Amino acid sequence: EDSKPKGRRFKLDPSLEVYKGIWVFVEQERGQAHPVSWELLGEGRKLADRLEVPLGAVVVGADEAMLAPICSDAIGYGADLVYLSTGEVLADYRNETYTKALTALVNEHKPEILLLGATTLGRDLAGSVATTLGTGLTADCTELDIDPDNRSLMATRPTFGGSLLCTIQTLNYRPQMATVRPRVMAMPEAQPERSGEVVRSSFALEEASVLSKVLDFIPDEAREGAQLPYAEIIVAGGLGMGKPENFQLLFDLAAVIGAEVGATRPVVQAGWVEADRQVGQTGKTVRPRLYIAAGISGAIQHRVGMEGSDVIIAINTDPKAPIFDFATYGIVADAVQLIPALTEAFRQR
Ligand code: FAD
Repeated sequence: EDSKPKGRRFKLDPSLEVYKGIWVFVEQERGQAHPVSWELLGEGRKLADRLEVPLGAVVVGADEAMLAPICSDAIGYGADLVYLSTGEVLADYRNETYTKALTALVNEHKPEILLLGATTLGRDLAGSVATTLGTGLTADCTELDIDPDNRSLMATRPTFGGSLLCTIQTLNYRPQMATVRPRVMAMPEAQPERSGEVVRSSFALEEASVLSKVLDFIPDEAREGAQLPYAEIIVAGGLGMGKPENFQLLFDLAAVIGAEVGATRPVVQAGWVEADRQVGQTGKTVRPRLYIAAGISGAIQHRVGMEGSDVIIAINTDPKAPIFDFATYGIVADAVQLIPALTEAFRQR
């Protein structure tokens, strides 16, 4: 307890005391919710219970019929209230329209905390909402807590290249905003029997007044790497794989065992694989059941992105490699030799 960060003592401006409740922005694309929304509702539920305030989910999109299943899922994952903003102008994500819809809701209902996923969309939206509202935003948090003395959010995130953790408080500004990466918070259990209330927003915007136009919608189906955070099995490679061609060995193994391929940052920087396969502090956070790390040293910046894996198998030629300090199983071997042998063995099964 003593080592836990202490909040700064301050007195909240009385005009901000009207801000009450915790909100989670539910990210959805054409009726498909991003799982980070449920992870945040699970975390938001804990914070709301500590503050003894309601937990709200914000759902924004084209029409209520399409969004109805998302609204009931949000209640099942812990929301007491769903704030729903609909309209043709909100059909596909645009920073301008979503910022206006979200700030209108915040100005009307005044939540004290607003959480979003640190996804491409969430990062884009959170920044402009915070700027429009003139409040603070802590990005890419790994831990959220409440300072019991002054009810403020304590948002923790890595800093100085991951060598330190800093806890940030937004003092006399409301709402307190934070983004959290997918897979950092645990997925809560759905409780379909929970009940909640849907609050409809009166927000409306004419398409003619919107500066940006959506010309086409092209789903990014080919980008398998984008699925990395939710993969059950990951085969990841580092510089120890030697050369780009050897990465094909990892793709071969992944195909046989139904895995995704991940990589370290130097591998991505060298152009061996696409950037959305990078695992770590400046890449993706993953929590698979099995993480096979081939030719990866286990630097802290890589470790923070994958240490939540259930089982880690490390393959490295150097018995003193740091990855062996936290791997579940360690194999001292040449990965370029071992990976094809493993692929063959699994193929035979
Ligand atoms: P190395 O550290 O060079 O390790 C290669 C390993 O392969 C060695 O342990 C070696 O013994 C082993 N090896 C060699 N040949 C073989 C073989 N034939 N078979 C088996 N093993 C072999 N890194 C990330 O991964 N993700 C991040 O998000 C990230 N963000 C960063 C952010 C900042 C601000 C900074 C400063 C750094 C970041 N890094 C990140 C880089 C990180 O510090 C390490 O440099 C990187 O993770 C090391 O990658 P590597 O393990 O592939 O390479």
